Amino acid sequence: MLPFKLVYSEKYFLPIGEHVFRADKYRLIRERLFLQGAVEDSDFLEPRPASESDLMLVHSPHYVNKLMEGSLTAREELQMEIPYSPQVVDTFMLHAGGSILAAECALADGVGVNIGGGFHHAFPDHGEGFCMIHDVAVAIRSLQKRKLIQRAMTVDCDVHQGNGTAAIFGHTGHNPTTLPSWSAPELGAPRAGVSVSQGPCKDVFTISLHQENNYPFVKPPSSIDVNLPDGCSDTEYLAWLDNALSSGLRQFEPDLICYVAGADPFREDQLGGLNLTLDGLTQRDELVFRAARARTIPVMVTLAGGYASKVEDTVTIHTNTILAAAEVFRAAHASPSP
Ligand SMILES: [Zn+2]
Repeated sequence: MLPFKLVYSEKYFLPIGEHVFRADKYRLIRERLFLQGAVEDSDFLEPRPASESDLMLVHSPHYVNKLMEGSLTAREELQMEIPYSPQVVDTFMLHAGGSILAAECALADGVGVNIGGGFHHAFPDHGEGFCMIHDVAVAIRSLQKRKLIQRAMTVDCDVHQGNGTAAIFGHTGHNPTTLPSWSAPELGAPRAGVSVSQGPCKDVFTISLHQENNYPFVKPPSSIDVNLPDGCSDTEYLAWLDNALSSGLRQFEPDLICYVAGADPFREDQLGGLNLTLDGLTQRDELVFRAARARTIPVMVTLAGGYASKVEDTVTIHTNTILAAAEVFRAAHASPSP
């Protein structure tokens, strides 16, 4: 039995046909967890779909109406890069409900994992990049509205920048600076091609580590953006993540961390150009979970992208994220009380 809950539904499968986005990955992750003997039925919770009013905490009424009525223009549907259907809308609403539930579980148990979600390219008034509804933002705004949290931090480790997240939690200005620990000895000299920018933040602090030379080509400013060069290695990636996390958590004390654990920084991803190994990705997960655990900040996890040439690799990476959380937080539960 896990020391936290996994939120999952068989209805997470997105009916989008033959697609680089393997929407069967959610089911395969659940199967893998059982195959490895890592979970039992009682570890799982079934989500309810987010409501239209939940969606409107983030998305414009005009956009939500278009989704409900099926009145997106051909251009808007193209930008989404997945076919529109009422069933697809229902599925995204279920993933958003799953993220709300996972965030509630995180507050109760220290961690909550949605085996879905992470649709970080959805904007208030449109969807893009396979993302229709920004489930993570909906979860944050829902918890804030119910006064369960005041401040949240997103830690986005998908290979693509969290442009929707940055736009939703918007920043009025962009004031590029280097991170305070830029010259930390473990990093050595910053490699040419890595740039870091930092903007002001309101009630949600957004961190994104991503490949600079990749979609989205216009990157609205996050609180911290780490623009990584093509082919970035495990060592370099982990050093930057450590740096960004420490810097963010020095400046901002969130009540909840929302970890967007994309599998696409993997070296064999079809839509990514970084060079992370399976082991490096597990170390990435552990780094995020340890940083949260050390400060007793609850963590909500969503899966986001993953387009490895072999779907088994994508499933392994996402499964490993859940196992890493179990490892880090089981150790926390087992610590002797003073
Ligand atoms: Zn991605």
